[in-house]
Amino acid sequence: MKLILFGPPGAGKGTQATFIAEKYNVAHISTGDVLREAVKNQTEVGLHAKSFMDKGELVPDSVVIEIIKQKLSSLDSMKFMLDGFPRTVPQAEALDTMLGELGVNLDVVVFLDVDDEEVVQRIMKRQELENRQDDTEDVVRNRLNVYREQTSPLGEFYDNKGILKKINGIGSVDDISERINEVLLAIV
Ligand code: AMP
Repeated sequence: MKLILFGPPGAGKGTQATFIAEKYNVAHISTGDVLREAVKNQTEVGLHAKSFMDKGELVPDSVVIEIIKQKLSSLDSMKFMLDGFPRTVPQAEALDTMLGELGVNLDVVVFLDVDDEEVVQRIMKRQELENRQDDTEDVVRNRLNVYREQTSPLGEFYDNKGILKKINGIGSVDDISERINEVLLAIV
């Protein structure tokens, strides 16, 4: 299975991604995780990315596209879930090109739909628990604006391809997993 997990910051993508990766045996590719690791290790990419991440801005397309290129080319089998990528239309177009070169198609784009108020509340809670540097209220609001302007058009992009599945992202973790299962079990 080849899927994208898509939704606003704080929609619960990380939690659901862990569950999907285990249940469906797909490689979990998270650009956010790769970037945080690069920041931690103070690599060249990490130092460049940090200034964007701290402000809640998107890291330049060329940087994340290169990350995905490397991750996809190192997979043993074409079973993967992209979490946090693509986030812009140019990223989605670059992904189409990469997948075309690999001769594979996406099966589904799972869209976790959560409204803004819920997102802010969840992220504030996460800030207390995980102390992520990009989870302060100003940064969260900026990330939501960036999401609305640059990332949300991808809903239409994938809907036009007929592979977008919208899931209600409000409810318990188990309820949401169940909704995702209904969609994914119809595909595998
Ligand atoms: P995440 O953990 O997915 O919320 O990502 C954390 C931060 O990493 C984001 O706020 C961005 O600054 C950066 N980032 C992650 N994925 C991307 C992407 N596909 N494009 C641009 N920036 C990204």
